[in-house]
Amino acid sequence: MKTEAVLDDIRSRIEAGYPLLFLKTAEEDRWERELAELALEIERGLVTWTITRGLQPPLSGETYEEPSATRLLVQLNEYPEEHLFLVKDFHPYLTDPVVLRQLRDLLPDLIAQRKTLLLFGPVMKVPLELEKDSVRIELPLPAYEDLREEFDQTISEIRGSDADALELNADNEDRLIKAVMGLTAQEARKAWMRALRGRNELNDDVFTTLISEKRTLASGSDLLEFYDLDENVNDIGGLDQLKDWMSKRAEAYSPRAREQGIPLPKGMLLLGVQGCGKSLTARATARLLSFPLMRLDIAALLGAQRGESEKNMRSVLSLVESIAPAVLWLDEIEKGFAGVEGDGAGAADATMLRLVGTFLTWMAEIQKPIFVVATANSVENLPPEMLRRGRFDELFFVDLPNFEERKHILGIHLKKRGWKTDQFNLDDLARRADGFSGAELEQIVVTALIDAFGNGRVLSQEELERAWRTTVPLSVTMEDKIFALRNWAQDRCRRATSDSRVTAMLEAEQRIDTTRLPDDDEFVPLPPWAQLAAAGQLKAGIVEFIRKDGDVLFPKLVEAMQPYMEVTGDQGLAVRTNPNTVLWAGMSQPLCELICELVSSKRIYVHPTELDRYKEIQKGVRLPILKEPTDEKVPRAVWLPSSLRTAPHQVHSARLSRIGRMKLGGS
Ligand code: ATP
Repeated sequence: MKTEAVLDDIRSRIEAGYPLLFLKTAEEDRWERELAELALEIERGLVTWTITRGLQPPLSGETYEEPSATRLLVQLNEYPEEHLFLVKDFHPYLTDPVVLRQLRDLLPDLIAQRKTLLLFGPVMKVPLELEKDSVRIELPLPAYEDLREEFDQTISEIRGSDADALELNADNEDRLIKAVMGLTAQEARKAWMRALRGRNELNDDVFTTLISEKRTLASGSDLLEFYDLDENVNDIGGLDQLKDWMSKRAEAYSPRAREQGIPLPKGMLLLGVQGCGKSLTARATARLLSFPLMRLDIAALLGAQRGESEKNMRSVLSLVESIAPAVLWLDEIEKGFAGVEGDGAGAADATMLRLVGTFLTWMAEIQKPIFVVATANSVENLPPEMLRRGRFDELFFVDLPNFEERKHILGIHLKKRGWKTDQFNLDDLARRADGFSGAELEQIVVTALIDAFGNGRVLSQEELERAWRTTVPLSVTMEDKIFALRNWAQDRCRRATSDSRVTAMLEAEQRIDTTRLPDDDEFVPLPPWAQLAAAGQLKAGIVEFIRKDGDVLFPKLVEAMQPYMEVTGDQGLAVRTNPNTVLWAGMSQPLCELICELVSSKRIYVHPTELDRYKEIQKGVRLPILKEPTDEKVPRAVWLPSSLRTAPHQVHSARLSRIGRMKLGGS
């Protein structure tokens, strides 16, 4: 309900002469402001009471007395007519029989004097004796329109203090507001301040930060689990139709879509083979929509005592509504709702049928932006109602990945761990890994990495192939089940992968079969440090290079890394504690940053070295020379000839352990 509508309700009750309203809110400040404005509008005086300060403003000429509940109730009669009394945190006193009697006796006077008592706070416990004479109203959290106002104010504050503040278009503003819905106005302001201050561009992280503020909302229930949004759509290999469909649905949440009356999407059901990315898609969907992701634990819901599960379901769904916009994820529904289709005679079946019914009705009627993602590995125990057309916007079948998809998935998991894919023959590996799920392909990469590292080698095609050989895909043991599932889904579900890709896959497999792999004899292997650097593992490559050589001068390192990254530029390194002490200059920013990171994580160390070594390679920095590192501040820039090693210097290790990057021009 919107703030305006609730204020209208309160206004009409005050004007109709209601003497006692219980107002429940966790947002004292905002609602106090709203009620003060209302009092002005309807021309009533407003007096506030707290146990610490008593009535404010006090009656003129009154002498100070310790505030108490009984004193308050006496004082109310002394105020002129037509007043509102905003009484904070009164609930503890309502258990006192004297206070309760006093309040009941006071009600006729309040009515006669057109006064209303507003009992206001986060707890609403109405004693039985007052039920007939009072009204309870839950003051809602800020609606979109309310947050809009808060947002405009917050942004103008940020802009006031930050000249480079970011420019926002209408779509981005809408996303930023929706990302905090469900929070109080004050929480929303804090969240925006934290996420937006000092930024001059908007990226995905801003939304992820805002959404994570909603974590505490889900903590109100054991049945809802809040998920961090670490993966995005680019982390999903293949499933192009599904991704395409999803990005169109994401558009339907935009303000433009609202203006044009486009209905809010309801959700999708993903049916498919285990480990092929259904859960991953649920997570990436939430990130795509910039909504928090909440997983509903159906098993725990059903595990509740008899009669409790439906109540729990209703309360959890209303919690989800209060957090909206949100993605609600129902994982493995065939397990959660198992037995619904059974003989229907058992009490458990009856409960589950009702639960499914409650859920589907809620889903059909909900007017809030809640996108349901249900995932299932089989259809046997799935409630048929769930599969009926119109319940979900779409049913997708997620099959084992085809050749192109396998290649894509292998690439994603290599890149995720910092490896360049062009170092490997992924075509060959993807061809061999026919029948492997996405999770099993990821496992190949992980196993190969662990094995290579354990054997003191750099990841190579050989390790990947060995890991492939030792993995038996589930599809071998589950072939019949997968076949049956595929058959079932054929006419009932949309494929998550487009058919044209399947054709492309077949063609590609044909092509690959005739491809000759490079002849081993023609192949001159790179040293391990270079293999690492070539595979994108730059930090590991640098450490290996220094370890192999033992003691490396800066220009040597720059030269070695040159084929793998941009190495030269106007950046240099200096000692942090003594910033005029230059170590080397003329490098690129990325290379300087890598060296700084490695030194600060103590994987490599700076050692002072003899100037002659630099003379040998005829290179140096055009600055006066410093022979020994010193703690005394040097007034002008000086060069400390130094080298890099993997072991610390006996004497100067602490002095040279903190280095920084700065603009220093050429060496
Ligand atoms: P289950 O039914 O067993 O939960 P699932 O279909 O939900 O299986 P996920 O849990 O999404 O599968 O897959 C497990 C992991 O395997 C993912 O977190 C991801 O790392 C990897 N994976 C699976 N499919 C893909 C894919 N298409 N692209 C990239 N990674 C994938």
